[in-house]
Amino acid sequence: MAIIEEDIERVRAAVSIVDVVQQYVALRKTGRNWVGLCPFHAEKSGSFNVREETARYKCFGCQAGGDVFKFIQEIEHVDFVAAVEKLAARAGITLTYSSGGENQDRQRRKKLIAAMETAVEWYHQRLLTSSDARPARDYLRERGLAGDVARQFRLGYAPDDWDLLSRHLRDQGVPADILHDVGLSFTNKSGRLQDSFRARVMFPIFTDTGEPVAFGGRILPGSSDPAKYKNSPETKIYFKSKTLYGLNWAKNDVVKVDQVIVCEGYTDVIGFHRSGVTRAVATCGTALTEEHVRILKRFASRVVLAFDADAAGQGAAEKFYEWEKKYQVQVAVARFPDGKDPGDLANSDPEALAKAVDDAMPFLGFRVNRVVTGKPLRSPEDRARVAEQAMTVINEHPDVNVRKLYAGEVATRVGLPVADLSRMAEKRGQRPEVRVASTREVGVAENAEFVAVTLLLQSWDDIAPWLIEDLFASEVPRRAFLALAAASQVEGANLLNAALAAADPEVCELLERAAVADVDVNAMSVAFDLIGVAVRRVLARRTGITDPEEIRADREARVRLEELDDSRLAPVASEALLMWLAERSTRAGGGGDIRD
Ligand SMILES: [Zn+2]
Repeated sequence: MAIIEEDIERVRAAVSIVDVVQQYVALRKTGRNWVGLCPFHAEKSGSFNVREETARYKCFGCQAGGDVFKFIQEIEHVDFVAAVEKLAARAGITLTYSSGGENQDRQRRKKLIAAMETAVEWYHQRLLTSSDARPARDYLRERGLAGDVARQFRLGYAPDDWDLLSRHLRDQGVPADILHDVGLSFTNKSGRLQDSFRARVMFPIFTDTGEPVAFGGRILPGSSDPAKYKNSPETKIYFKSKTLYGLNWAKNDVVKVDQVIVCEGYTDVIGFHRSGVTRAVATCGTALTEEHVRILKRFASRVVLAFDADAAGQGAAEKFYEWEKKYQVQVAVARFPDGKDPGDLANSDPEALAKAVDDAMPFLGFRVNRVVTGKPLRSPEDRARVAEQAMTVINEHPDVNVRKLYAGEVATRVGLPVADLSRMAEKRGQRPEVRVASTREVGVAENAEFVAVTLLLQSWDDIAPWLIEDLFASEVPRRAFLALAAASQVEGANLLNAALAAADPEVCELLERAAVADVDVNAMSVAFDLIGVAVRRVLARRTGITDPEEIRADREARVRLEELDDSRLAPVASEALLMWLAERSTRAGGGGDIRD
């Protein structure tokens, strides 16, 4: 049995060779390589080199070398399939096996790519020469995207017709199922093959090795089509979360400069190239994902975001900090004048693009700046408020030294004693872990949830350590919990006031009721009840689980549920159940999107 090619590449893209090797060999970073003692021959000096960008290892002592699968084969003494399986399990990827073997998949992939290649060329020629493409050419010329630019990026035009492309490809001998599989055509209601893209400027999307896998199609001004951009669907050759538009053109410069610029749109990427900054890529209609970061890390360690990264707020920030640590990358943000995007600037002021990248600020600096800049600092109250807001942002960062340095900067800017803010940064405030659940039921245990909110206000320390977001099935108490959790980060602030200041009207109403509610119950028993309800709720929807490890975990959760009733066992059981809940929640909904 063979594993299908597509899955092998998914596994390869999902694992970091440095992480894998580090399970067996202690590595230290030396320049762009990671170096350690070779596991395949006895040595005292480190000849064993691993490089993330190329995803390969090499020993200069014994000449052992290869990719991540070869490494597992050699060190575990297993065959190729077993090596892929081992790494797939590690990456949480389910493999598909084909009896026909690798070869057939490779052949199929070649056919799909060849069909895309023919389509790219056909759309491109259509744009350059066809009379019906004149409005498209005019549109592109106005934006500086005609001529050589159109040729370099192989821009195209999909005519305003039902099936011109499909017919052309069929005439070239491309079967209908291939056209379906790459998303270029579909079968309409009358059973005829119809083009997926119509009356659009076409931006072909390539893999980093230059294979065309998808298209982004943009309407022309004046079109009645409400969708400005239409993109290819995910196919056997196109995965949005791991495709970066422009990486094929950018990668040499990215490696050379050790920096990659991430934009939002195709025209932004082209704008950077036109302005002489040839290391820009774009996500294809999705937010930046962890998989994107994992791919980019293979090429560069500095990532400059050329879009409004702050709009997504706190969740995005935490994700960026996590990725910075996990993938050893530095994330910075480029700012553009007057809300212009890079595509516009390339026309009006190309030098400003390069300058914005040169002046990119670290992500935290960018966020702090946004809080502090332009705020009135006339009264002591103004200064205290700005300092408090800035500290909320600063305290999202996991590194205490980074927090203290920024706290010092803020203190100087708002005119407060450095020592005070530095102390806030050092402590950061204990807050319960906040996770985002994927599904929410309404109306369950609302009363217990209200009591929990009340107790958070009465005696935070007694109940907060036992609560996570997933315990709140009702929407408003859940948001109230999140508001309080966020407020608890602001050292020295009154919990209720800080939460009220930031909360929406529904949450404010609930908080105000909770603040005067007369409850006299044991905080821990309320928490344990909520945990029990939440665990039963999650267990009830976990049907059809086949993974033995998951079955075992669920069985243990059921045992722990019983222990909740025993006051001696309950604290330990609760800990375990909270962890179980948190893990289930991450798996169900832990999407990596930032802008959603
Ligand atoms: Zn060696």
